[in-house]
Amino acid sequence: MRVSVQAAERLALEGGKPVRATLLPYGHHTVEESDIASVVATLRSGWLTTGPKVEEFENAIAQLVGARHAVAFSSGTAALHGAAFAADLKSGDEAITTPLTFCATANAVVYQGAQPVFADVSNDTLNLDPETVGRRITPQTKAILPVDFTGHPAALDEILQLAGERITVIEDASHALGATYRQRRVGGISHMSVFSFHPVKHVACGEGGMVTTNSERFARRLRQFRNHGIESDPRRREAEGQWHYEMTALGYNYRLSDIACALGISQLGRLEASVARRGAIAERYGKALAEIPAIEMPHVRPEVEPAWHLYCIRLRLEKLTADRAQIFRALRAENIGVNVHYIPVHLHPYYRDRFGRRAGEFPVAEAAYQRLLTLPMFPAMSDGDVDDVILAVRKVIAAYSA
Ligand SMILES: *Cc1c(COP(=O)(O)O)cnc(C)c1O
Repeated sequence: MRVSVQAAERLALEGGKPVRATLLPYGHHTVEESDIASVVATLRSGWLTTGPKVEEFENAIAQLVGARHAVAFSSGTAALHGAAFAADLKSGDEAITTPLTFCATANAVVYQGAQPVFADVSNDTLNLDPETVGRRITPQTKAILPVDFTGHPAALDEILQLAGERITVIEDASHALGATYRQRRVGGISHMSVFSFHPVKHVACGEGGMVTTNSERFARRLRQFRNHGIESDPRRREAEGQWHYEMTALGYNYRLSDIACALGISQLGRLEASVARRGAIAERYGKALAEIPAIEMPHVRPEVEPAWHLYCIRLRLEKLTADRAQIFRALRAENIGVNVHYIPVHLHPYYRDRFGRRAGEFPVAEAAYQRLLTLPMFPAMSDGDVDDVILAVRKVIAAYSA
């Protein structure tokens, strides 16, 4: 490894000068004047919650991903819950998902009273391994929830094939808006795809989510679920009176407001540019860090174009004198806002206690977790910011190289 002058400097953790004067976060949203104007125009429009902006945002997302329907929700978590309802998940059913995700993916299964079943990941992409999924399918399996970890699409064709006619594939595409899989946009491939518009994701609404689907039936159930389980059939209204509506299932208030959609629509206009910028940052990291033996770079399969929500490296701990926690602390001291994605879901106390899960069940995901480190990645990062991260990583790795 090339040891630069900076790398010989004392670590900030040990009293040296940090690479940056202020903390560079791992992710951050961008709000431009045009976003503000879009929200202000909605505030002046007379609509606050469900109005024309919801449909406009839904149509824009549906068109972007190539799906027939898009249904907006108040968060990605609510959207996952809606998809689990639409797939008719209930007590006695099983749904297979990955341990290497945000807990909301598995929680959606539990909200419906169904049993979450985890399957291990492939060692390259850290996405659900279709082979391990296949081994966990039973007559009770009603859904599979692959996650496009970091924005790299999961093995969707293989998973859809395993699912066949009987099982619904709910893709948690929270990381992958703008990604492509075998020349197709993520969002138009699985039976349902779920997006999040949390500020660290590709498009920010503050809070917000969306389910895309080509199924008329799923779309209808999703719309019903986000509005208390109410079905309002225009023909019945005609016959029984304009006040008429019927609640036919237990739903929630999971609606997304016009204000949030106005922000989302404006942000969506920059999606292509921001995904391209993320790609350029990934390339800059790739060129600079690939030569460091103690780092395993993220893998990209040839059939995908990832959306790079996260940039996750893995440390080769056998080449280091420190563990991930120590490297993490040292980088934070250099004012690099590294993070870790994710603590495997099955290791959280809730999943251990309630579902009897334990360490050792998913060796690929668990081994990856020990070595994962998320580097800062967001479109507003300058090349100088990226270079600060590179410099700090070189400095810290050099200090702890075996
Ligand atoms: C962000 C995220 C969610 C939840 O989305 P919210 O909009 O924050 O509710 C679910 N799954 C994954 C993988 C996520 O990254």
